[in-house]
Amino acid sequence: MKNKKIRDIYHILLKQYGPQGWWPLIDLRNKTSNDVHLKKGYHPEDYTLPENRSQQFEICVGAILTQNTSWTQVEKALDNLKNKGFLYFNIINEIGKEELISEIKPSGYFNQKAGKIKIFTDFFIKLNGRIPKREELLRIWGIGKETADSMLLYAFKLPFFMVDAYTKRIFSRIFNIIMDDYDKIQSLFQNVFRDEFERDKLIIFNEFHSLIVEHSKNVCKKKPNCYNCFLKDLCEHCL
Ligand code: SF4
Repeated sequence: MKNKKIRDIYHILLKQYGPQGWWPLIDLRNKTSNDVHLKKGYHPEDYTLPENRSQQFEICVGAILTQNTSWTQVEKALDNLKNKGFLYFNIINEIGKEELISEIKPSGYFNQKAGKIKIFTDFFIKLNGRIPKREELLRIWGIGKETADSMLLYAFKLPFFMVDAYTKRIFSRIFNIIMDDYDKIQSLFQNVFRDEFERDKLIIFNEFHSLIVEHSKNVCKKKPNCYNCFLKDLCEHCL
C-alpha cells in the first residue's frame, strides 16, 4: 500500500513539475534563456552530467555549503569561488583556509565549512577519479548521511535516495505518522524501486528528491496549502 502510494506520488510530481535537471552547474548557466531553471544551470533530462572531475567537485562543494543554509546563499558562495578561479580541487588544496573563508562567507558557518571543504578536497584528490564508498564519505569530518548521499547521487551518479527535512515533512503528513529516521526512510524508498534497472533508479532518485523540494517550497510548506495540492487524494493529513 505504502509502496504503491510512493510510486504514484513520484509519477504525479513528475507529471506536474517535469524533470528538474539537478544538480545545477555554473558552466551550464544559460544567460540568454527565459527559463529561470536553465538560467541557473539546471539541465533537465540530461543525466550524463557531471561529466568530469571538476563538475563532480563543484557538486560536492555545493553539498557541503548547503548544510543549514538556503541554495541562494550557496550560489553566492559558489559564484565567489568561481570568479576568483578557486572552484577546482587542485586550487582549493593550495589556497589558505582564510582565503577560502572570505569567499564562502555568504553560505554561513564559513569557518566550519572551510575546514570541511579543505578536508574533503584532500580526500577527493586521493580518490584519483575513483568513486568513493558511502562508508568512506561518512568517515570524513562534517559529512553526514544527507551530504554523503547527495554527493553519491548527484556527483558520483549512484542510486542512493537522499532524505532531507522536506522529505520527512511531506511524507510524515502523507502517511500521518512521524517519519524522521533517515535510514528507515531511505530503505523504504529504495525498496519501492528495487526492481528497476540501475540507470532508471538513478534517474528516479535524482528527480524524486528535487521534486519533493519543489513541492515543499510551492505547496506543502510549513503551513501546507492542501486546498491547492494535487496530492491531496493520497494524503492522510487531508482525509
Ligand atoms: S495535501 Fe497538504 S499536507 Fe498533504 S502533501 Fe499536499 S499540501 Fe502537504
